[in-house]
Amino acid sequence: MVNEELWQAVLAQIQLNISSANFATWFKNTQITSQKNGVVFISVPNSFVKEWLEQKYNKIIIKILRNLDKEIKDVRYDIGKSGLKVFKKNPSVIYQEGQLEFQEFKIDSETNLNPRYTFDTFVVGPFNELAQAAASAVVKSPGQVYNPFFVYGGVGLGKTHLLEAIGNGIVKNFPQKKVQYIPTEKFVSEVISSIRNHQIEKLKLAYQAIDTLIIDDVQFLAGKEKTQEEFFHTFNALYEKNKQIILSSDRPPKAIPALAERLRSRFEGGMIADISYPDYESRIAILKAKCLERKSELPEEIINYIAANIQRNIRELEGALNILIAYQKLNSSLPELKTVKSLLNNLISSPVRVVNAKKIIKTVSEFYDLKEKDLTSSSRKKEIVKPRHIAMYLLREELKGSFPFIGRKLGSKDHTTAIHAYKKISKELDQNEGLLEEINLIKQRVLSE
Ligand code: ADP
Ligand code: MG
Repeated sequence: MVNEELWQAVLAQIQLNISSANFATWFKNTQITSQKNGVVFISVPNSFVKEWLEQKYNKIIIKILRNLDKEIKDVRYDIGKSGLKVFKKNPSVIYQEGQLEFQEFKIDSETNLNPRYTFDTFVVGPFNELAQAAASAVVKSPGQVYNPFFVYGGVGLGKTHLLEAIGNGIVKNFPQKKVQYIPTEKFVSEVISSIRNHQIEKLKLAYQAIDTLIIDDVQFLAGKEKTQEEFFHTFNALYEKNKQIILSSDRPPKAIPALAERLRSRFEGGMIADISYPDYESRIAILKAKCLERKSELPEEIINYIAANIQRNIRELEGALNILIAYQKLNSSLPELKTVKSLLNNLISSPVRVVNAKKIIKTVSEFYDLKEKDLTSSSRKKEIVKPRHIAMYLLREELKGSFPFIGRKLGSKDHTTAIHAYKKISKELDQNEGLLEEINLIKQRVLSE
């Protein structure tokens, strides 16, 4: 088995189990250098990564390697300098167009856009057609139709892809326009460091020179007052000049906690479109499109199996394909359905989702950017009381918890407090669609973690 292909197959599986930031941090510039007597030697860029892989990832690496090759017994990590060179010169054999190549290698340094994301590769179905249609309109006449354009939806459903496709489309249609894509976290850190270095005016000017500003994942503005203020000014300056602003978030503007009211109303002032979960047919279409992209043919039976079993995340659909294509390349044959099932075991047979009080409380506090102990405190602050009521409501609705139990779970409150909270939220739900949507988003998260 070729070392490089073997390592790509391992990375394909690891990538599915950890966040992309972690993946890039710990697995960039790693490779298998050799194998001897059942020991696989992995070269890593520095001692920090070596230690981390040994302590945190060793078990899973060995497990995946053994699944692919039963002869493998152990793994050693060596610090080597060659990682980067090899990766760059000889990019992954298997995933020429896939996710595995580290994105930095492809991103346009001026616009920060990744040319991989275009409308051509964006599959449209009932779950995303409104967002896609609005996005196409924005590409045709930026700054004119939907401004700002705000897209929201859950993890791995195509927000970044769509935003970047708009950016790439505008660059193509209007080469003279200055387009800039920036993840919110990066914007936040730019603002913080320019404040520290007394360069905030310079940063402002730089942003005001942009014709199309794309900011991804604006839910991360939650609670960042100073950044919100800067962003508000930038937003206004661009908006007044009819410059296009495009935003994404994992939830609608009104559900972003600790967002200044004036910014929220700006976000709501244009077009808001959501992306929901892809239906079965759309999942099949996406899988087929990705197979074509990779020049790989998988039998109908396998495609159907994946589409039936991975339902809530397009990134995971892609991940499943990565694993199967890696297998196909390694073995020069298609896996049988039985093998497919065991290869995708990690992805699919996640244990029956358990919902318990702890999980509900954790999810509600994360959703509202609070600490769990705020929720269970006796604070009467508005921004804490509402989430606390919602947690109580969910404990009743989802767990059928008794009111004394609910009171206890939220910091030894009296059962009458829990009854009051439950009634209050139930009543409000009848009149307030925003709240309904908010609670549905929280429920989805409780179930999907
Ligand atoms: P999000 O930003 O919502 O978390 P991404 O845009 O990163 O999701 O999408 C996750 C992966 O799924 C990406 O590789 C993307 O190319 C792919 N993807 C998402 N939506 C589609 C689609 N409609 N058609 C094809 N690929 C898609
Ligand atoms: Mg994204």
